[in-house]
Amino acid sequence: MSIFNNTQLAFADKTDAQLKKAYWMFKLIEQPALTKIGTNILNFTVHHNFPFAGDVVKATLFEQFCGGETREESMQVVTQMFRRGVGSIFDYSIEGKEEEAVFDSVCNEIKDIIRFSVGNPAIPFIVFKPTAFGRIDIYEEIGKGTELTSSQKEEWERVVKRFDEVCRLCFENDKKVMIDAEETWMQDAADHLVEEMMQKYNREKPIVWNTIQMYRTGRLEYMQANLQRAKEKGYFIGYKIVRGAYMEKERERAAANGYPDPIQPTKDASDKNYNSGIDFVMDNLDSVSGFFGTHNEKSSELVMDKMKAKGLENSDERIYFGQLYGMSDNITFYLADKKYNVAKYLPYGPVKDVVPYLTRRAQENTSVKGQTGRELGLIQKELDRRKGK
Ligand SMILES: Cc1cc2nc3c(=O)[nH]c(=O)nc-3n(C[C@H](O)[C@H](O)[C@H](O)COP(=O)(O)OP(=O)(O)OC[C@H]3O[C@@H](n4cnc5c(N)ncnc54)[C@H](O)[C@@H]3O)c2cc1C
Repeated sequence: MSIFNNTQLAFADKTDAQLKKAYWMFKLIEQPALTKIGTNILNFTVHHNFPFAGDVVKATLFEQFCGGETREESMQVVTQMFRRGVGSIFDYSIEGKEEEAVFDSVCNEIKDIIRFSVGNPAIPFIVFKPTAFGRIDIYEEIGKGTELTSSQKEEWERVVKRFDEVCRLCFENDKKVMIDAEETWMQDAADHLVEEMMQKYNREKPIVWNTIQMYRTGRLEYMQANLQRAKEKGYFIGYKIVRGAYMEKERERAAANGYPDPIQPTKDASDKNYNSGIDFVMDNLDSVSGFFGTHNEKSSELVMDKMKAKGLENSDERIYFGQLYGMSDNITFYLADKKYNVAKYLPYGPVKDVVPYLTRRAQENTSVKGQTGRELGLIQKELDRRKGK
């Protein structure tokens, strides 16, 4: 039996009404056809400002997966979770807008999050996506080593400047910052830039953290090479270790363009590779810290086992666990109860702007085998427990 089955602990902050609502929502998004139609309608109605569409979303998906429309509004969730030992990572979830003015405004928002969270242990990490600071195509060109035009050079300099401003502000205020991983075709440029930031700001400890997607092939080799460079140049590494979120898109693009699929051939292979990622961190703790971003119970348990085998304290500052807000509370609150470092991504933003994030959550919960069933089972178990069944 799983160690993560204490639903009383997992849902202590949720009222019966909230649990029942969450149950029906997961029940609806469990249906792929319904989710497909639903997300299309949702995108259309919210985008076209249909009356009540925003209210419906806010009372359902938004409430389940987001902290609030603003940072201030989200603080209630931050405080509530921290009371139980769980940190929050503000995720400003505006996606897909490729305009310089938007990149600047997101960068300013991230800097505001840093200032807002200085000295607050309830917010242990800052996070951003590389494509929130620049067009995906410019990353791709840089990664391929294409000769750039002068306007492209200027564009890339602006991306580098945004990275540097955020990482420097984190360094000055002793805040850790992690940079999300995205599509493979933009990742080489992002890796290179994040390494530059690590070299600059991680001399004393890991302030800047990269993300490694273990569903990709070749990532262990990348980590080995990065470690070698870190040792030569004298800086610490922080890695968020995830499986990876863009599998279908990656496979389709590889097939359409006739290049080898960059993703592990099977789920089992991704799982094995994830375990190797855990080993990599555990075997190199002198230089590397790890944040294990996963909803997988076995992976989380494996990290705990390896920590124990190494004689580490549960609260060792080099190891973190992370889940998304609204999912896998059974893992999060168990870990917090046992004094492990654990934090949840907490998306926030105007309802209209976070709809793409929410529809992705709904689609993912439809496609990630077992996840929705697991959430439903846990909620049902807790409702039964409360009824004394
Ligand atoms: C805190 C946090 C931060 C995250 N940050 C990022 C990020 O920066 N970038 C990013 O890409 N993702 C990120 N993710 C998402 C993550 O990559 C996974 O998509 C998600 O967590 C599901 O994987 P799992 O380990 O939780 O669970 P599981 O259910 O055990 O694994 C599902 C995952 O396994 C892999 N998989 C499934 N089927 C196959 C198959 N047939 N062949 C090969 N592999 C398969 C896929 O990666 C799939 O998402 C983050 C997740 C969390 C919790």
